[in-house]
Amino acid sequence: MGVFEDSFVQPKRLLDESDEEYWGRVQRASDRVEAVTEGATSPAPPNPPICPECGLEADRFPTLSRAWVLLEPLEPVNVLPAHFVPPRQRWLINGDGVAWNPWNAEPTEGAQCRISHTVACPGIEPPDLWPWLTAMRKENERRAQRLFNPPRPSEPGLPDVG
Ligand SMILES: [Zn+2]
Repeated sequence: MGVFEDSFVQPKRLLDESDEEYWGRVQRASDRVEAVTEGATSPAPPNPPICPECGLEADRFPTLSRAWVLLEPLEPVNVLPAHFVPPRQRWLINGDGVAWNPWNAEPTEGAQCRISHTVACPGIEPPDLWPWLTAMRKENERRAQRLFNPPRPSEPGLPDVG
């Protein structure tokens, strides 16, 4: 898995577990990872659609992975041009009222979307919206460190090559 993938660790199979039980458990675990990755962490009904972190109300929708997501209310945010919104943060609503997230799919020209409350919540540390860019920045930090701050030969723990 690279920086473009999310960490899903397949659960170990339990002794005496049938195929059906095991794969059901794998499915539920992957749904949970997906829901958290996408910000679909809303309290389920009958709890009110209120963010537990900041107390603001948002628009709640069921998701394809059977979680619940709080989307920013249309007032005052409104729908956004999809190309303004980072990948995996673009939420669409099906005709049947189910919210889904097209992940890394390139938005079509003129496409619009909504965003989850998670990325706009004042009570949550913002997620890393551009993980590939973060990985590149860290790699450049390592490269710059090697280039401009090479380890000194007198540093303890390094072999004496002089
Ligand atoms: Zn909030």
